[in-house]
Amino acid sequence: MDKRYQHLYKKTDRNKRRQHNKNVRKKNRARANRKQIVLARLFFGTLSIFVLIVLLGTIMHILRSKKSDDEIEPVEEVMEVPPLGGVADRFPDLPITEDYIEINEFSRPGINLDSNPEYIVIHYTANPGSTAKQNRDYFNNLGNTHTTYASAQFVIGLEGEIEQCVPCDEMAYCSNSLNDNCISIEMCHPGEDGNFNDDTYNNCVYLVAHLMNYYNMDMDHLIRHYDVTGKNCPKYFVEHPERWDAFKGFVEKYRAKYRAEETGK
Ligand SMILES: [Zn+2]
Repeated sequence: MDKRYQHLYKKTDRNKRRQHNKNVRKKNRARANRKQIVLARLFFGTLSIFVLIVLLGTIMHILRSKKSDDEIEPVEEVMEVPPLGGVADRFPDLPITEDYIEINEFSRPGINLDSNPEYIVIHYTANPGSTAKQNRDYFNNLGNTHTTYASAQFVIGLEGEIEQCVPCDEMAYCSNSLNDNCISIEMCHPGEDGNFNDDTYNNCVYLVAHLMNYYNMDMDHLIRHYDVTGKNCPKYFVEHPERWDAFKGFVEKYRAKYRAEETGK
């Protein structure tokens, strides 16, 4: 080769090599890119499958727990304790006489409650000086006189005597909209002001405490007739709300006492 052109050939060779190297680098880059894409696809593919599995698992879990809820849930509301009729034997520490009035449409319809009573409703007789027996007989006589609809499960007399007029699992006519859901208690009182003497008051506290414990009632389910309809009954507890609060306080105290006695603590 002519020496004059030799450097030109060398230059061409260098260019070729440079071009070749460039191509190799390009190829390597492309290969690396392809590898990255494959890895990314693999990663996201695995991630999607994982998310799908977790999602399916969650759905299956929800379906399963829903099914078991349905299985556990009772078809009907189950009574926590057996229905109570008369309570003289159950609360022997109290002077209770089971003296049920005759079944009649004015005071004892003979309708069984659908479920256990959920409220205790307190009343006063609004008949100063009358006894528990007299009030019981008045209710009984409504079957003949037909003058009004009225009755209560219990009347507590001036000496603390307790007349049970209607069984606890039967409806009485005393507390309006709550009649099919409550036990009504009439309290006798000596005077026009509607205040109660100690015997009536104390035995009412004891009876209410026993009943509320038996039916597992919350304390706010002890109410006055006034709380159902706004009627001034029981007069003394409506006109002296602090005395009503004190009465509830005593009931709460005796509930705790009876519970402690039952559990032997
Ligand atoms: Zn009343």
